[in-house]
Amino acid sequence: MKNKILVTGGAGYIGSHTCIALHEAGYDIVVYDNLSNSSKEAINRVSTLIGQPIEFVKGDIRDAESLKQVFSAHQFFGVIHFAGLKAVGESVAKPLLYYNNNVSGTITLLEVMASHGVKNLIFSSSATVYGDPETLPIDEKSKRSCTNPYGQSKLTVEHILEDLAVSDASWSLIALRYFNPVGAHPSGQIGEDPNDIPNNLMPYISQVAVGKLDKLNIFGNDYPTVDGTGVRDFIHVTDLAQGHVAALNYLEGQSHSEKNSVEKKPSIGFLPINLGSGKGTSVLELVSAFTVITGKNIPYQFADRRAGDIASCYASADKAKALLEWEAKLSISDVCQDTWRWQSMNPQGYNIS
Ligand code: NAD
Ligand code: UDP
Repeated sequence: MKNKILVTGGAGYIGSHTCIALHEAGYDIVVYDNLSNSSKEAINRVSTLIGQPIEFVKGDIRDAESLKQVFSAHQFFGVIHFAGLKAVGESVAKPLLYYNNNVSGTITLLEVMASHGVKNLIFSSSATVYGDPETLPIDEKSKRSCTNPYGQSKLTVEHILEDLAVSDASWSLIALRYFNPVGAHPSGQIGEDPNDIPNNLMPYISQVAVGKLDKLNIFGNDYPTVDGTGVRDFIHVTDLAQGHVAALNYLEGQSHSEKNSVEKKPSIGFLPINLGSGKGTSVLELVSAFTVITGKNIPYQFADRRAGDIASCYASADKAKALLEWEAKLSISDVCQDTWRWQSMNPQGYNIS
């Protein structure tokens, strides 16, 4: 068995897929989640898929006492920190909730990590920290700026991690900036299960396909893009999950060389890395790929641009390839096929009652 990892937010969409990838890579995991945006059923299904129970603690990252108990009970190599709220619109309506949950919660987690001597962290950041990019593809040196409280909470945590790395060289803090995570596990057993009407494109399309929603509104057809609709970098969630395993391997590589070499290698400090496919796909291209792959017609109409949206956003994935030896392998066809398998097998998501 390899090192033990604490996975905060491990019951959520990206976390549940990453738990499987971590298990397959031989890691021992403990999931810590308050289930505020997820279901225990996701954990049950991950357990079934990996063929053994997952160690699960229901707890909040803002609850230092609860975290301390978990850190006292286990010897963790590091933390993969998914726990956070992620709805942009809700963050505009409830900024204090978002700063409290995402920023204060992360500070509490870092304090408990420090007091237990656990200094390796992989943090879920987002391409949203780049705001409206000046150049494409977006590399990690691009200017950062955000326009909504959700994005600000991610950027603020990045600044905190940078300051922490400067203050104490023993921290290794990787911020993985995800582009647009989509798709589902090929088993069809786990996937994205949004509360209410989805805000994001892919779950919206799949809910139209399954008959839960009438038609898709495409926000804007006058962008300076290939067909006038927005362009994004859609990354399959199982590729994303592998990106976390690669980041963990990289952290371990650094700490092993520290132990073995006479000249002590410095820790990683703060390291931001994009996780994207490096390819841009327009909204219309995604809709048409979904129809071709699934045979499902997706009725749509053009609507006004959505406030705050940008025309195009896609990653330079070179740094992930060079440092982590990771790159996206799955295609838009895989994304559509796997999303549809999950949606058609689970029309009500995890709500099985
Ligand atoms: P998700 O909502 O499915 O998962 C987040 C999990 O964190 C949920 O299970 C939720 O219950 C838990 N959680 C939230 N606040 C918590 C708290 N205070 N204490 C304990 N648990 C808490 O979201 P996801 O799509 O899996 O995203 C995971 C992370 O990646 C988030 O931090 C998100 O901001 C970030 N991210 C997501 C996307 C995306 O499009 N899905 C893009 C970029 C970054
Ligand atoms: N989009 C759309 N209709 C929807 C949801 C999204 O046309 O119902 C568009 C949106 O304007 C953007 C793209 O799809 O151009 C991706 O949006 P999403 O919310 O999935 O991701 P983000 O905007 O955060 O990149």
